[in-house]
Amino acid sequence: MTGQEPKVAFVSAWLIVSSIALLIMLSPYVLSDGALLSASRAFQFQHRDQKQCALCGMTRAFIAISRGDLDEAFVLNRSSVALHRILLTNELLFTIFLVGRIKKLCSRTVGWPSSNLTRQQKRRQRHAIA
Ligand SMILES: [Zn+2]
Repeated sequence: MTGQEPKVAFVSAWLIVSSIALLIMLSPYVLSDGALLSASRAFQFQHRDQKQCALCGMTRAFIAISRGDLDEAFVLNRSSVALHRILLTNELLFTIFLVGRIKKLCSRTVGWPSSNLTRQQKRRQRHAIA
């Protein structure tokens, strides 16, 4: 076992979770409300004591957030707006990570300007192109 393995495992798990979160966050913009609500019913579990759990109302709240109605989302589930912001921040970091990886990959394969070049090397590269 090398020292890189835990990092690779963590990043891999983060990429999978972030991809699923991205699909969940984009779904209110792509699917109808009815399709989303019936899909979320498939993942619901029975509440033994008839009390609401932390996820009750979350689907309807995310639909409300997609319409820009944060007040309704807060009424439907108090944690929804905070969770949505956390997921949004994660997706921003996910996008930045992916763009960085794609740039790095392209610099290796097609010779795009790499970020690890010195300023002088980048300047020479720009002058060579111009
Ligand atoms: Zn519940």
